[in-house]
Amino acid sequence: MPDSQPRRPDENAHGAGGNEAADSGALLLHGARLTDGRTVDVQLSGGRIEAVGTAGSLTAHGARVDLAGHLLLPAPAEPHAHGDTALTADTPGPVSYAVEDVQRRATEAALLQLGHGATAQRAHVRIGDVQGLGPLEAVLQARRSLRGLVDLTAVAVPRLLTGVAGADGLAMLRDAVKMGASVVGGCPDADPDPAGYAEAVLEVAAEHGRPVDLHTAGDDPARLARLAAMAGGLRPGVTIGPCTGLARLPREVAARAADQLAAAGVTVVCLPQGCCGGVERRGTAPVRLLRAAGVRVAAGSGALRDVANPVGRGDPLEAAYLLASQGGLRTEDAYDAVSAVARAAMGLPAVRVEAGFPAELLAVRGERLSGALSLAYSRIVVHRGRVVARTSAVREYCDSAVAVALDLPRQGRSETGP
Ligand SMILES: [Zn+2]
Repeated sequence: MPDSQPRRPDENAHGAGGNEAADSGALLLHGARLTDGRTVDVQLSGGRIEAVGTAGSLTAHGARVDLAGHLLLPAPAEPHAHGDTALTADTPGPVSYAVEDVQRRATEAALLQLGHGATAQRAHVRIGDVQGLGPLEAVLQARRSLRGLVDLTAVAVPRLLTGVAGADGLAMLRDAVKMGASVVGGCPDADPDPAGYAEAVLEVAAEHGRPVDLHTAGDDPARLARLAAMAGGLRPGVTIGPCTGLARLPREVAARAADQLAAAGVTVVCLPQGCCGGVERRGTAPVRLLRAAGVRVAAGSGALRDVANPVGRGDPLEAAYLLASQGGLRTEDAYDAVSAVARAAMGLPAVRVEAGFPAELLAVRGERLSGALSLAYSRIVVHRGRVVARTSAVREYCDSAVAVALDLPRQGRSETGP
């Protein structure tokens, strides 16, 4: 599939020799529409946005990409993927955790998500059990092989961290962080002592100055309160998800828990497209209630075609679509949850289509965000100032010989004609 064969269109345009400006990474995005309605040129250089000017006002001093008919957005980010189990649903028998198999699947999944625009991705990886640190090693290899295309970070997810079995888990978690897991994760609900588990995770994270990203159903208010109390002082920050159980608590109980999470600065990552292996219960966190309390809410994709969810597109725009259609968010807030808030949850610098910001961008065919969230097949993805993925879609109607770009507004011909 095209998503697994990354090309580098901006480089190919100049051939192997390239010109000096192209080699230095300059790229002009011409004639893109912004969400505020302006049509602009955007000059990229050195991985950053160098200048934004009225369309036609900037001169290319490197490669140039025509973005007429495209809406240009800050790139989305994927804050909650499962790199070790992705794309296993259709393979009969037990899941292979051989390093080469996990690396291949994790790479394919990351490229699939990159094709949708997620230029930064955080993948949870289970450690311990019989496979030990093998899956983590595989995802870290995928991370290295994808450098320059997508920033992939790994979250180490230990099994047990308390009691006799927990000593091994704790030692392995420390090894995982030393190996290169950027984030300390876990599933406290699955440990006989959830508070002890969370405490151990926070302690390892504090030791190494790493962020924390925990799975929880969020259906135990006392447990959430303790977690919030422990997380409050920890930097660089604590994320929890998918918190589906919060939606099943009485409203006033959930609101109190949301207040505690907000006060502690804990970010919630919800999974509108499904669940994941960390928390089996389905549903989506009460996004509006959490946001009303001041909790930062990001959205990720969770399980991607594995035992927890047999389907999955890994498309952040689909998550945003669901936040708008099911969660009742405005389209701008829904897109923020998969872009600005997701990046913040991952500790990444903010992106705006303004000079000085990182050149992490997504161009989609269309004019407005509502249209982009509804139907955006055709996309151009920019990572570190370079086009790293292109998708284009055209539909042809045989009866009327009409061919339309799938996600363009109608242009005078009926798409549903006789
Ligand atoms: Zn998960």
